[in-house]
Amino acid sequence: MALDRFGRDIHYLRISLTDRCNLRCIYCMPEDMKFRPRVELMQDAELLTLMRLFTALGFHKFRLTGGEPTVRANIVEVVRGIAQTPGVRSLSMTTNGVLLKQLARPLKAAGLQRVNVSIDSLDPEKFKRLTRWGSLEDVWDGLLEAERVGLRPLKLNAVVVRGYNEADVVDLAALTRDHPWQMRFIEMMPFGEVAGFQQAQVVTEHEMRERIEAALGPLESVNGGQLDGEARLFRLRAGQGDVGFISSVSEPFCASCTRARLTADGKLRMCLLREYEVDLLTPLRAGASQDELKGLIEQAVYRKPWGHGLAQNVIPMNRVMSEIGG
Ligand code: SAM
Ligand code: SF4
Repeated sequence: MALDRFGRDIHYLRISLTDRCNLRCIYCMPEDMKFRPRVELMQDAELLTLMRLFTALGFHKFRLTGGEPTVRANIVEVVRGIAQTPGVRSLSMTTNGVLLKQLARPLKAAGLQRVNVSIDSLDPEKFKRLTRWGSLEDVWDGLLEAERVGLRPLKLNAVVVRGYNEADVVDLAALTRDHPWQMRFIEMMPFGEVAGFQQAQVVTEHEMRERIEAALGPLESVNGGQLDGEARLFRLRAGQGDVGFISSVSEPFCASCTRARLTADGKLRMCLLREYEVDLLTPLRAGASQDELKGLIEQAVYRKPWGHGLAQNVIPMNRVMSEIGG
């Protein structure tokens, strides 16, 4: 078991499989984003070596993310290798869904258990404005295919941006009346050079809930208000699915955090919103032993920051969201 100095059991790793993406969401990266040379990124064998170290240390829950994980070369085989690593109990993916229509079935067969699909609006024009390059139809087809092949329960993510989709929370929440999906609304977080825009356009959980309740009726708390992962869950009357809020900005959930993140260039990042990282790929390439690498992971876990510093206006500047993986 990997414990941090506050006694939190850190067993959940989010792995960024690539920093590249086939979309350019306005809240995530600039349109002319420059990506890292491939040689700086973890190769398949390196990733699987690190996976075995994490499971040996008690990590058992894994989420694959990016950039866009489905654009990684050989994605189905990479997923198979990760799924077959002894000690992996839970394996899911966060994806923009664009390629799921083709990939959902082979990914499921390779051992992927669930997906979270990002969908910020049900209006094709607004969807395009938010993602710059995306087609709502592709994503919709992709998420239906994911559900059909059994990548369930299906969770949907929407980042809410003032001036773009704050009114769309109503239509998105209404999906949970007819589908057993979890629709989660994410407060936009600030990173790097785009932090000014992200902070100015953030929409809080409070405002989203007011909009949804005014249009669709009361949201009733599920689980007595307990967090499900990072989401606080509610249900509309007669809803089949849940409406969730991930409110890192207005109601941080740092005390119950069990996560660490592995960036595509092999750095272990212990808090999404703090710059502290430990390089694992360089020592791995330099021939460090398994014990030395495990020691580095244990030290990084021990030093995991207590929480983020948004309330003190401390914003991580060393990476944008697509490089960390969300
Ligand atoms: N490309 C995949 C996707 O979009 O689902 C996975 C990577 S993306 C970085 C992971 C999640 O982070 C997505 O749900 C995305 O909407 C969210 N995200 C991106 N930028 C964000 C920001 N500034 N604040 C909050 N969430 C953000
Ligand atoms: Fe790509 Fe996901 Fe970032 Fe959108 S949120 S640009 S889909 S990595």
